[in-house]
Amino acid sequence: MAFQNPDALFSEQAHLMKPSAIGEIHKLLEAPGMRSLAGAWPSPSVFKTREISDIVLKLLAANGDHALQYGSTKGYLELRQCLSEMAEKKEDIECSPDQILITTGSAQGLDLACRIFIDPGDIVLVGLPSYFGGTGTIASHGGINVGIPVDENGIEVEAMEEKLALLKKGNKPVKAVYVIPNFQNPTGTTLALSRRKKLLELADRYQFMIFEDDPYGELRFEGQHLPSLLALDKTGCVVHFRSTSKTFSPGMRVAWAAGHTDVIVKMELAKQCSDISTNTLSQLVLLELIKNGSFHNGIKKNIEYYRQKRDLTLDLIEKHFPKQVRWTKPSGGFFTFITLPEGLSADDLLIDALKHKIAFVSGPAFFVDDSGKNTFRLSYSQASSEDIMAVIPSLAELIKDRITS
Ligand code: PMP
Repeated sequence: MAFQNPDALFSEQAHLMKPSAIGEIHKLLEAPGMRSLAGAWPSPSVFKTREISDIVLKLLAANGDHALQYGSTKGYLELRQCLSEMAEKKEDIECSPDQILITTGSAQGLDLACRIFIDPGDIVLVGLPSYFGGTGTIASHGGINVGIPVDENGIEVEAMEEKLALLKKGNKPVKAVYVIPNFQNPTGTTLALSRRKKLLELADRYQFMIFEDDPYGELRFEGQHLPSLLALDKTGCVVHFRSTSKTFSPGMRVAWAAGHTDVIVKMELAKQCSDISTNTLSQLVLLELIKNGSFHNGIKKNIEYYRQKRDLTLDLIEKHFPKQVRWTKPSGGFFTFITLPEGLSADDLLIDALKHKIAFVSGPAFFVDDSGKNTFRLSYSQASSEDIMAVIPSLAELIKDRITS
């Protein structure tokens, strides 16, 4: 007999899962002739395809039995040792290999952290706006995303303090804060050092976890690297998620989570139930690239590549966008975030833009409340210079039409 209605049998968690804007973005990118600043994938032109192919052949020839085998749930020890040394040397993060869990993308890291910390109904504070993959994961575990505004210095920790006091008064303690401290998706903004310190102080005072999602931090174009929340953490409240998706390859899916040993041990248990271990071959390839210096040289090339794209994008925006429009000026990463004059709808603008074969991501997808209707995200990471040069002036015309009509 055919199975008629799986819907009736889906778990409560399954019902909490909502399709994210990612699927819609991919459809937009695939439409023929589309010029898009919607996609936020890294550019394949910075992939080390040839070198990775040589390394894979060597690894398989030298020890294919190992490279094709399951690995430990925690991740390949030598890779964790390497990452631990790198964290200490480059970022002043004291974290032993035991405090590192290799994950299948940092997306999995956040999912595992939610699995061990978030019960249905738990409150998690998130940026307004915030990466929808992150807020979607939190919601899929029954977490209630509560928005805190983001300005040019990142999530407004001062507003967070007020919210925390208010929620505590109402007997609604906050379980965690989800923050993307560097070149945030979608705004491109970076959390100021004073706010990082204040956030840690609040975590101590109000006893919540901080989920620090940092896939873009290494792609800084100018200015000084700021210490991560993990580096500043003295209490063990930070779970730090890192990824090589933007600096090596998202398809290889190597990422890691770092934090307090007890947290990492629990996440390891959750990972065991999820995928047993991260792809062994990918971990070995990454290890080799780190050891032979290519990973770090690659980051330098990535920075140069994306800096040029950022410069082109911001120059064109400056030149063409009407003065009533505001935009962020990222010092790294993939994004600038646009705010249209109050009352103009980015969704409506997108409908118009698509007719002209131009795509971007409309802002509301990044807001966990119903604000942000007049905002949208432009990403320069994946677009060719030709696309950027074609999209921004045309988009500016569409915006001007809407402002004057
Ligand atoms: N966090 C943020 C802020 C992101 O922008 C992304 C990818 N767009 C991810 C996490 C997921 O990255 P990964 O490929 O490491 O799972």
